[in-house]
Order: sequence, then structure tokens, then C-alpha cells
Amino acid sequence: MIGKSLYDYTVNDVSGLFYENVDAVVIVDPSIDAYKSVVRRGMFETFLKESGIYHDLILDLWFHFNESNEKVTGEYQIFADNTGVFKSKYSRRLKLVLEDEKKPHLVQLTVYPVEDATKYIFILDEFDDNESLQESLTTKKINTIQNTYLFSMYIDLVADTTSSINVTEISDDVVNYNLKYSDWRMMIVNMIWPEDQEQFLRRTDPEYLKKNFTPGRTSSYDCMMRNLEGKFIWVKLIFSRAQTYNDDDYRFVFMVQDINDKSMELMSTLQKYEEKAIKDPLTGVMNHGEIETQLNNALARRQSNDQPVSVMMLDLDHFKQVNDNYGHAVGDVTLKHFAKILMDIATEEKALVGRWGGEEFVIVCRDKNADAARLLAEKIRESIAEYQFPDIYHLTCSIGVTELHPEDDFTKAFNRLDKAMYASKQSGRNKVTLLA
Ligand code: GH3
Ligand code: MG
Ligand code: MG
Repeated sequence: MIGKSLYDYTVNDVSGLFYENVDAVVIVDPSIDAYKSVVRRGMFETFLKESGIYHDLILDLWFHFNESNEKVTGEYQIFADNTGVFKSKYSRRLKLVLEDEKKPHLVQLTVYPVEDATKYIFILDEFDDNESLQESLTTKKINTIQNTYLFSMYIDLVADTTSSINVTEISDDVVNYNLKYSDWRMMIVNMIWPEDQEQFLRRTDPEYLKKNFTPGRTSSYDCMMRNLEGKFIWVKLIFSRAQTYNDDDYRFVFMVQDINDKSMELMSTLQKYEEKAIKDPLTGVMNHGEIETQLNNALARRQSNDQPVSVMMLDLDHFKQVNDNYGHAVGDVTLKHFAKILMDIATEEKALVGRWGGEEFVIVCRDKNADAARLLAEKIRESIAEYQFPDIYHLTCSIGVTELHPEDDFTKAFNRLDKAMYASKQSGRNKVTLLA
């Protein structure tokens, strides 16, 4: 056949040449969920079977573009099931990862629905030029589309239909599903983080969308959604109404964007700020504002239930002398050690520690009555008196303890606490005084 004149080629010649050159041709009968490989070459000798279950093939093709070897979770088959239905030509570029191989293969997939879409022909071709593979894999566009946008679809609220958009750079074909929007919504909700499900249902409600989206309007919100491997990740759900001049046209584009990395980063930054806002920078215990808030919370809780709450105030004895004799830096180190001991003891007892100011600290003891709090205060007093502080060796503290009453307000409770602490100082320091 080589050397044949161009004008002598027939359809048979061409289809012969086609089958000799393409990497894989698969014929699918979706009605019996089966496929048969007509041509298998190269990587497809392992990727495809002689014949197999169509649904499994779809799972393998659809989910490997993420370079994942993980098993796809049951929930995600919502996408796979629908992706396996083709009413028109479909083409997309995929990254397929073979088992035991790290490097993905870049593959062009083209699907031809034939015989009134009762059968499909799948043509799979690997990009064999290594350089173009490398280039394509690092192409920002492909990465952005394939890794950032997990999913996108058209929705028609009037016809109550869904159809997939193929967002590769090669094609923007639309695949029509046999899935109603109203059904799709009730399936997808199962992949949303339980606490976000109510919001998802509210914001995907057809009436909500019709009412809140003028033509051309785009809106989004973030929530957690299960990914291919069953892990919850942060995604942005984007709805955009088609720009239309027909008021009865309610077509939307829906997209799911992966924002997990950025969200996690943002949240850890927020957490750091939040910590800064409530922590005393020198000792790491709660700062004045936060322990005061906690004291108020404890008062409110006391007023609303029968659980006892006690508080204590601790003040280092003759602390000024530490500064005077050893310097301010040693004073600071001493405060850090003092706070550390308080934290160690309090954490075990589920109590909260805060620095009231200077060398004064407050502890809120949840679920402790006056006697239990006094015992805890004694334990702290002894621990401090026995502790070997760097440079200064020994130091004591005076503690005042009181239990909160339902009729207490902040001033009343705090005055009692202050009085108790003062009584400990008056009676010779290194003491615990309880004013129940
Ligand atoms: P008392 O037994 O009556 O409590 O005596 P005291 O010396 O501890 O009490 P006083 O209130 O006279 O002094 C507290 C000292 O605590 C004064 C101040 O220099 C010191 N101080 C307060 N905050 C800090 C701090 O952040 N670092 C250091 N190094 N010292 C501090
Ligand atoms: Mg003081
Ligand atoms: Mg003091």
C-alpha cells in the first residue's frame, strides 16, 4: 500500500491506516455496561482489558487525570455515572497514571456516540513525544484547569436539566446527562460536609437561584466537600447565570473549584492572629482581656445552671525584690516559670489560666466548688514554694480563692477574690485564703 497515489485511497484504506496508527479503539455498549477493546497498543495493553465493565473504564479514565492512584470513593461515582453518558461527540485530554508508575501519560480521549447513541466508540491516543508531554504537564493552563476546577456543568432550571462542560483547551463540547438538576442536587448534597449541607440545599434551590441571580450575575461560597479519595477539602462553589435578555431563561454555569491549599494556609494565619489576640506574649497564658472574658463566661454559666465554678487570684510574694536584686530579665524568666507551673497544674484540672497583669494571675476552675478550688490552690502554693527557680531559687505566692454565686456580678465576685488574696498577704504570705 505504501507509495499509493493520494487519489487512489479508499475509505477502507484510511480506516486500515487509522487502526494501525491509533493507540486504542474501544467499542462500548452502555446498556449492558460493557466494553470491548478493538485496538490496544502501548500503555493501553495494560490500561485496557480485552473486554471489561464500562463503568470501571469510566472511573479509571475520569479520575486519573488528577495523578491519583487512590481508589475512588463511592460518592464520587455520582460524577462517574453521569460522565459515562454521551449524547454528542466528546474530547478531552487526560493524564493517566498506570499502577506502579509515577509518571503520568498524557492521553487524548475522543468519544463518538454511534447508532443513535446506543453505542460509543472511544479513541485513545497517547502523546508520544516526551518533550511535548513534559511541556504540557507543566503548562499552567492545563494545571489550572485540571487541578483547580474539579468540575463544571450547565444547568437549565426551566428544563430541569444538567450537562457537563468539558473545559480542556482542546474542546468545549457539552455532554448532556440524563440527570435532572433537581435529582443531581439531592445526590451532590451527600458529598458536602454535614454542617454545610443545609446551606448547600438553600443556595442550590431553584427558586433561590431564580430569585437572587439577575442575568449575568456570578456568586460563590466556600464549603467542605469530599474529594476523589474521600477526604474533605475546601472548595468554592460558583454559580453564574447566563447573560440573557429573556427573563424566562434560567441557565446557569456551576463550577467546583479546589481552594483547599489556599484555605488551609489562610486558616492557619487566622489561627495565629487569633492566638496572638488572646495570649500574653511573655508567658503564653491567656492575656487580661481573655481571662476576663472567661471569668464573665463562668459567671454567666453559673447563673444558668447548677455547676459550681470557682476562681483564684495568685500574686508573687516580694517580687519587686527579684527585679531589684537580679534584674528585670531574671524577673521575666521567673514569671515564665511561674506561669508554666500554673499551666501544668491547671491543664490537668481543666482550669483556665490568665495573666491579670504584672505578677498577678487568675485561674478559673470550672466544675469546682470552694473546697475543691482551695485544695487545688494549696497544691499550687506548695509546688511554687518547692520549685527551684533559675538564679533566685525560691519564691512563694499568695492565693485568694472564691466560689462564684448565682447572684454575683463581676464586681462583687472580683472584690471578694481581691479581698481573699489581700488576706493571704496580710497573714504572712505563702498562704491560701478562701472567701466562699
Ligand atoms: P507583694 O508580696 O506585696 O506582692 O510584693 P511585691 O513586690 O510582689 O509587690 P509590688 O506590687 O510592690 O511589686 C510588683 C513588682 O512586679 C513590681 C514590678 O517591677 C514587677 N513586675 C510587674 N510586671 C513585670 C514584668 O513583666 N516583668 C518583670 N520583670 N517584673 C514585673
Ligand atoms: Mg502585685
Ligand atoms: Mg506581688
